[in-house]
Amino acid sequence: MHKLYFIADSSTTSLVNINHIKKLEPKYSKTIQFIYLNNVGVDSLMHAVSQFEKGNAIALINYFQDEKGNPLNFNSLVQEIARPTNVPIFLDSEALLGEGIIGGIINNGFAHGREVAVLALRFIDENNYIPNERIAHPKNNYYFDYRIMQKFDISEKLLPENSIIINKPHTVLVRYLRYIVLLFGIISFLLLIVLLLLMNIKRRKKAEAVVKQKLEEIRDQNIKLESANQLVSDMNARLEDINKHLTVTNEELNKAKEKSEEADRLKSAFLANMSHEIRTPLNAIIGFSSLLVDPFTTSEDQEQFIRIINSNSDQLVRIIDDILDLSKIEAGQLKISNEIFCVNEILTDLVYLFRKHNNNQLVEIRLSKFTDKCRLMLQSDPTRFKQILTNLVSNAVKYTDRGIVEVGFSLDDDHEVTFYVKDTGIGIERKYFADIFDRFWKIEEITNIVYSGAGLGLAISKRLCEMMGGRIWLESEPGKGSTFYFTQPAYFIRGGSKDSKSVSAACKGKNNWNGYTVAVVEDEVNNLQLLIKILERQNANVIGFKSGNEVVDYFRNNKDYPVNLILMDIKMPGMDGYMAAKLVRNICPDIPIIAQTAYAMVDDIVKLKDSVFDDFIIKPIKTGLLIEKICNFISND
Ligand code: ADP
Repeated sequence: MHKLYFIADSSTTSLVNINHIKKLEPKYSKTIQFIYLNNVGVDSLMHAVSQFEKGNAIALINYFQDEKGNPLNFNSLVQEIARPTNVPIFLDSEALLGEGIIGGIINNGFAHGREVAVLALRFIDENNYIPNERIAHPKNNYYFDYRIMQKFDISEKLLPENSIIINKPHTVLVRYLRYIVLLFGIISFLLLIVLLLLMNIKRRKKAEAVVKQKLEEIRDQNIKLESANQLVSDMNARLEDINKHLTVTNEELNKAKEKSEEADRLKSAFLANMSHEIRTPLNAIIGFSSLLVDPFTTSEDQEQFIRIINSNSDQLVRIIDDILDLSKIEAGQLKISNEIFCVNEILTDLVYLFRKHNNNQLVEIRLSKFTDKCRLMLQSDPTRFKQILTNLVSNAVKYTDRGIVEVGFSLDDDHEVTFYVKDTGIGIERKYFADIFDRFWKIEEITNIVYSGAGLGLAISKRLCEMMGGRIWLESEPGKGSTFYFTQPAYFIRGGSKDSKSVSAACKGKNNWNGYTVAVVEDEVNNLQLLIKILERQNANVIGFKSGNEVVDYFRNNKDYPVNLILMDIKMPGMDGYMAAKLVRNICPDIPIIAQTAYAMVDDIVKLKDSVFDDFIIKPIKTGLLIEKICNFISND
């Protein structure tokens, strides 16, 4: 039979409790013996407890006072009882769980206390009472200490259902459960992250593929757009070109329209003017011609009439020449010859002629001083050159009432000569500077001042000048005068004091070359004869040679040569002029040698200038020029 010891103090509560327990006794009388240890002194109790045998149990009801009624520290007393005893102690105190007792149905003291407090609050502190706060109904639970169960070999199976076991050591799994859970959590977290990453990678790859595809599509679109753009800009450029072209064409058409209107106007003006210009000299020619045959006309009158008829015929011819020239120029049929000529001669002759025909005493026509200082050669068309100058000078004379008309040139550099014709005449307004070079154009048409002229001179001069490689322009001030300039490519210039005027003057004093001997070397018989004739007319002695060898032999054999000057042809069979001149120069260094040649190209001239010759003359030889050149070498004595 098992023994169940009930420990209690002598308090009323304990007695009440024991009385209750005793009522249960008959129910267990066959298996359990109920033993009541109440009102036992602490020492006796301690002794008794240590004697209890295994297989029995203690139910500790109350022990708050000793047998004399002195209060006891229940908690430390229970711990002291638990230490020596061999049986488990069942107790309902929550506070002593884990302090040596095995457990039992435990009152939840804290919950009970709280319930009481809430209940009390309802009555004593209405302000802090929360009306609807529920009063908890804490349940009492079975609590058991695992360590004590182990100590007394009590199996868990014996415990009531839903018992709570404290101090039960964890199994390995349970012990490391936290870590395992943590690890699992971490692994799961990592796995989740990996999964998320994988998903992300997959999604990203997918997205990348989509993006790549989109990019390719965009690139394709871009390429298409670029080529479309290119196409558009090409088309734009083409349209712009077309536009420009159209604008230019439009402008050209407008200009052409304006030009044709202007041409129309000019043509009408020209026709009216031409009629006047042609009829005026014709009138004089016809009128005076009829007077010539008049029986009352004296021979003196006849002479004057013939002069008038001649001068008017010249005027008429000039007009017709101008018209023909302009037609030729415009048809591209006018040819410019290419000859070497002396500018000074042309200027001198021109000024001389104009002076001769100038009836206005108040106008002086002169050559510039600089023109005297050097001898200028041009390679061009002398006739057309003269024509330009004639036009400019005749205008200058025509539009100048008093003052000066000066002709001259200046050397800008080695490549260009600027000719000018300056007057102190009526001048031209700046706004007409460009127009006056148009054909048929006359300021008189606008100003209604009447001067003769068809309005062709400047147009022809401009075209000629340009065809000869030059430019033409003017400076002018109304009331003060005008200066017309034109340029020509320079050919070469011979500096020196012997200008054409002084040469002419010198020649005048030396035109009798009595006693002078000139050796002429020329293989062409006719040319030789011509030269001999020219020279003999000047009363010179002439010795003719038909080759270079002949003349060299002559000087070799005639040490006392009576020759004053040699005219040497360049191209001859056998020894040419260069070699012959060189050899002769060696024999007699003082004799001047003038080359006469048909080689008139620039290179030939340069060669001649650098050679032993003192001067040269280009064929066809002009008598005047030849005489002038020889005069340069004939001394005054
Ligand atoms: P024209 O034979 O009528 O003189 P040009 O072509 O030679 O024709 O000249 C055109 C116009 O230029 C002239 O009608 C004249 O009005 C003006 N002009 C030319 N040269 C001069 C000048 N030296 N002084 C003033 N006006 C000039």
